[in-house]
Amino acid sequence: MKNNEQTSHLSGFRILIGLIVGIIAGAVLKNSLDIETLKSIMTNITAPVGNAFLRSLFMVVVPLVLCSLAVGVAQLGSVEHLGRLGRKLATFYVCTTFIAVIIGQLLVLTIEPGKGVDQTFIETAKVNFSEQTSSLVSKSEGVKTSLWPGMVEKVIPKNIIQEMADTNMLAIIFVGILIGVTLLNLKNAAAQTTIQVLHTISDSMIMIIGWVMKLAPFAVGCLMFNAVVQFDISIIGNVAQYFGVVVLGYIIHFCVTYSLITKYIVKLPLRYFYKNASPIFITSFSTSSSNATLPTTIGTLQKNFGVPERITTFCAPLGATINMDGTALFEIVAALFIAQVFGVHLSPADHLTLVVLVIVTSVGVAGVPGGSIPLLMSAMATVGIPPEGIALILGVDRLLDMGRTVLNTTGDSLASLYLSRVEKVPLEDFIPKVENS
Ligand code: ASP
Repeated sequence: MKNNEQTSHLSGFRILIGLIVGIIAGAVLKNSLDIETLKSIMTNITAPVGNAFLRSLFMVVVPLVLCSLAVGVAQLGSVEHLGRLGRKLATFYVCTTFIAVIIGQLLVLTIEPGKGVDQTFIETAKVNFSEQTSSLVSKSEGVKTSLWPGMVEKVIPKNIIQEMADTNMLAIIFVGILIGVTLLNLKNAAAQTTIQVLHTISDSMIMIIGWVMKLAPFAVGCLMFNAVVQFDISIIGNVAQYFGVVVLGYIIHFCVTYSLITKYIVKLPLRYFYKNASPIFITSFSTSSSNATLPTTIGTLQKNFGVPERITTFCAPLGATINMDGTALFEIVAALFIAQVFGVHLSPADHLTLVVLVIVTSVGVAGVPGGSIPLLMSAMATVGIPPEGIALILGVDRLLDMGRTVLNTTGDSLASLYLSRVEKVPLEDFIPKVENS
């Protein structure tokens, strides 16, 4: 166990170093090299390395979720047990997401970042992002029906292979749970063999991720390098207050809500949690994708916290798909900011509708970079906020996406730890003596 601890700390630390080196190299070279040389570095080195890393993470997600969820459910022992855990998990998800939304709502209504945004900036942003905005508007129009009754089609697949090819996580989760339940009921030898086979596939995926993560310090450095070189810091200037409110919300939820949950619900020392979960934070920050972080989340929870496999394999895939605190917090701030900029008056009923919509849409958001934008636009349109207003915030969204993905994956990790407590897993036995003192 001690060795595991040391290896995991080491890997978190090395990725962090990669992240810092990438940021510094990007900032320094951006100002000292000409644009052609920078482009050539990105095209030939940093983009392919970063891309190889991201693709390798995505490569294992679909088989990992399908197999691990089926095994996780099959190992729960009974359908009643599954139902009990499912209810507890759903309550945890809804409560934490609701808290995140309220934090965002209070901040944006008190600070009012949308008041006094420069009119020329609004016009320029509309023109600059017009192409992106119009394609997002048509995407978001499809979202309206996809919530209901379209949700039926998103969850129950006509062709599971097609859904797997499209990485439709809700359908994959549905089928994974169904297979798990059937294996739970078919208590024969063939079912046991099938569980073992699925288990082996899921273990192989985790092993592949172990290898991929060895590259993480370089890959994360490359991803950060690209992000810094491509990001125009001056763009924040016009929406600095909005940016500040979102980041403040992230910090409050991360440091206050999650610390309280860690200390009083999960009952683990704060330093121990934040230190051991660092590979999850860094991977999600650099990839901006809950899905790409999923294998790291599962591995870290098992290796660094001693969460049993039957819990990680059940909780983490569900969380990566439907539990998105950071996304919900960002969505409410963005929607209300745009309403303030355009002077849209929202009645108390509209505010309530928006809170509900933001929580519901965060469930349907794909765990990929920028996955929330079309759903956010659809929620805005429902309460009369112009969805085209998204143009104002698209410029800074790449950066904010990193932060919200960290919150999303941290919430998922805490949900797995919470369920371990519910299942009476002695998590403290895994804490090294020095942390406990
Ligand atoms: N990037 C987020 C995630 O993967 C989704 C989003 O809010 O856009 O968790």
